Amino acid sequence: MYVVIVCYGCGRFLLAKGTQKTKRCPYCATRLKLVSAKKVAQVKTAQEASNYIRAMKRRRDY
Ligand SMILES: [Zn+2]
Repeated sequence: MYVVIVCYGCGRFLLAKGTQKTKRCPYCATRLKLVSAKKVAQVKTAQEASNYIRAMKRRRDY
């Protein structure tokens, strides 16, 4: 399982494995605790997650 979270450093969407406890943001290098990060989606595959992130980014552009 994967989760899509929002970085509390830069506000971007990130993909993390459901089993991970922490994740370093590749954009701003903030170390995120997954328990305190905002989860926006739970998906089964990495492919699904990247589709989701792409769709969210597109929506933000408007
Ligand atoms: Zn970040």
